[in-house]
Amino acid sequence: MANIFEQRKEKEERIVSSMRHIKHLIAVGSGKGGVGKSTVSANLAVALAQKGYKVGLADADIYGPSIPTLFNIEEENVLGTEINGQTYIVPFERFGIKLMSIGFFVDKDKPLLWRGPMASNTLNQLIVETIWGDLDYLIIDTPPGTGDIQLTLAQDFPLSSVLFVCTPQQLAVADVRRAVNMYHNDKLQVPILGLVENMAYFTPKELPNNKYYIFGKDGAKQLAEELHLDLLVQIPISENVSLTNDSGNPIALDYDSIEGKTFAELATIVSNRSN
Ligand code: ADP
Repeated sequence: MANIFEQRKEKEERIVSSMRHIKHLIAVGSGKGGVGKSTVSANLAVALAQKGYKVGLADADIYGPSIPTLFNIEEENVLGTEINGQTYIVPFERFGIKLMSIGFFVDKDKPLLWRGPMASNTLNQLIVETIWGDLDYLIIDTPPGTGDIQLTLAQDFPLSSVLFVCTPQQLAVADVRRAVNMYHNDKLQVPILGLVENMAYFTPKELPNNKYYIFGKDGAKQLAEELHLDLLVQIPISENVSLTNDSGNPIALDYDSIEGKTFAELATIVSNRSN
């Protein structure tokens, strides 16, 4: 039986080998839950795919895996296939994007059992043991905060960059700062793409030129300044987003909507900064 060092080396080699097919590995994080991190991950993936990139989306949010809902996927249908004696997971495909969720591999009733080795194994299943094929971007929707999943991702995987999502209501500087510091510190120098402010303002249908900053105006701007991050885009709070989320047709598919345009703008920023 291989000793622990051999096992570790073998695991590292498998990560390196699977990453040969993935040009950019981008994590999407947040200080708190419920800010729209999955919404931004899903729509960024769609917007990048619409620009012609090959995109994968891996849902690593153990506390609330929502990518299956956002793309209308039934979890019973996860398929595996064997290659050289090793079982691999076949990702789903929607709108040209390859999709897989951690929600399919874990017992949702036992979140408290999450520990380092388990986080590492599950991330391996999600990233290394899934047949992503050649990708320009693999977007990872991470859990909020700074747990074992994010730490393992930051330490063991060659992340290209990280994007953070916040809302005007949940601007806890300390939470976002901790999350930023986990990826970007003396040891790990993962570039931080910047901050996306979700639910930033409201525009009524009958007043399309008006923006109402119902949760306050410059909070995210100040947070970005304080943490030396760029505020990349501001996404409105809108019925369009929540309805399309529920129906499995992300709003980024609708080029004419303001939200669709904003996600297209975000995809342009991400692709410009990735090369
Ligand atoms: P997180 O991944 O941070 O937990 P989600 O993306 O799951 O957050 O979003 C939380 C809830 O808020 C969902 O019900 C989602 O449909 C809704 N939501 C997210 N962004 C918006 C928005 N811009 N406008 C309206 N509803 C939104």
